[in-house]
Amino acid sequence: MNDCIFCKIILKEIPASIVYEDDQVLAFLDINPVNPGHTLVIPKVHYENIFETPDTLFGYIAQIAKKIAHAIKDGLGAPGVNVAMNNGAHAGQVVFHAHVHVMPRHEGDGYALWKGRAYKEHEPEDILFKIKQSLK
Ligand code: 5GP
Ligand code: ZN
Repeated sequence: MNDCIFCKIILKEIPASIVYEDDQVLAFLDINPVNPGHTLVIPKVHYENIFETPDTLFGYIAQIAKKIAHAIKDGLGAPGVNVAMNNGAHAGQVVFHAHVHVMPRHEGDGYALWKGRAYKEHEPEDILFKIKQSLK
């Protein structure tokens, strides 16, 4: 995609600190890290999000994200690692080239996970039904 910043990074038109590269994926440091070492794993082919990314390729991205999580844990001494993916603007996606965040976490780093809320009565049944009906 012509105006995609991550495609430009793949083509080396924009510099990035590359952590790992092969013929299918690229992993590089996020320019604005949650903690130093925050890495993005992306497919080399432009897919917008998880929904567009082929299953096999997504599985491979997950495999590489796991490899990087180990390297962040061991190499940076991070006792915790968050692996996350934002899909769609309403989920906080800002760059519309699929990417998985691998984020080192340290004790007292000040980040909190999102707050959950309790289900209303009978809500789980309805939600379960809708999700299971849509499972393909
Ligand atoms: P999203 O919210 O779409 O899941 O996250 C996009 C991420 O891409 C952000 O964490 C942001 O800091 C990172 N990012 C945006 N532009 C660039 C860039 O030009 N280079 C690098 N290395 N990271 C970028
Ligand atoms: Zn792209």
